[in-house]
Amino acid sequence: MTNLRWGSATDAGMLRATNEDCALAERPIFAVADGMGGRASGEVASSIAVGVLRRLCGPATTDVASVLEAVTAANDAIVSAAVDEHAGMGTTLTGIALVDDRGQEQWLAFNVGDSRVYRLYSGRLEQLTKDHTEAEELVAAGALTPDQRRGHPSSRRLTRVLGIGPAPAVDSVLFYPTPGERLLLCSDGVHGELDDQAIRFCLEEPGPAAEVAQRVVRAALAAAGRDNLTAVVVDVVDANVDDDTGSRGGEPGR
Ligand code: MN
Repeated sequence: MTNLRWGSATDAGMLRATNEDCALAERPIFAVADGMGGRASGEVASSIAVGVLRRLCGPATTDVASVLEAVTAANDAIVSAAVDEHAGMGTTLTGIALVDDRGQEQWLAFNVGDSRVYRLYSGRLEQLTKDHTEAEELVAAGALTPDQRRGHPSSRRLTRVLGIGPAPAVDSVLFYPTPGERLLLCSDGVHGELDDQAIRFCLEEPGPAAEVAQRVVRAALAAAGRDNLTAVVVDVVDANVDDDTGSRGGEPGR
C-alpha cells in the first residue's frame, strides 16, 4: 500500500480581509478550492466543494468514478446554494486522489479552474494541471507567448469554474505513485507570486510536509502575498518506512 505523509497551510495574504480558499488534506483525497463571489460567498462556495469531496475520506483508496462524480456533485451543490446574497458564487477545485484502478493504486489528478498540482521528483518540477484561463487559450491560439502569460490580465479570467452552471468538464490524469515524490497543490495566490524555480526551491528542502507547506505560503507572502494563499503538500514515502502519519489530521496506522 502506498504510504503518504501530508500537511497544509493557508493564509489570507497581505491585502485580503478574508480567506476564500479552502483545503482538504485527508487520505485518500487532497484538494484546494479557491472561492469567488462577493460578501463572503467565495468562502461558502469553496467550503461546499471541499465538504462534498470529504465524503470520500476514510478508506485508503477511492476510485476514478467516485472522484469525478463528487466534482459534479460539488458543482450542483454550489449551484443550489447560489441564491440571494450568494448568487454568482463559484470556486476552482483541484486535487489528487489515491484511487484503485483495476487493482492498482494510482494517483488521479483532477482540475477545474486555475489552482494547480505540481510534482517534484528527482529534482525535477512538473506542473500536472493546465489552468482554465483565457490566458491559456490565448497561448494555445498563439496570440500570447508562455512568458507573456504570467501576470497578464487574461490569466485571472477563468474559463471553467464550479457553481456557475452545468458541471464543466473535469481535466484528469492518472499516474503511478512513486516513493520519493512530493506533490504540491496550491491556489493561484501561491503560483501567482512564485515562479517554477521558486516553487522548486521551496519543495526541494527536506522536512515534514506541513513544514514545507508553511514554507511555500511564507515564500508567497514574502513575495507580496496579494491573494489568499493555500498549499497542500503530500509526500509519497517508501512502503517500508512508516505508516501514514498526516501532520494534520492523519490517522496513524491506516
Ligand atoms: Mn485566488
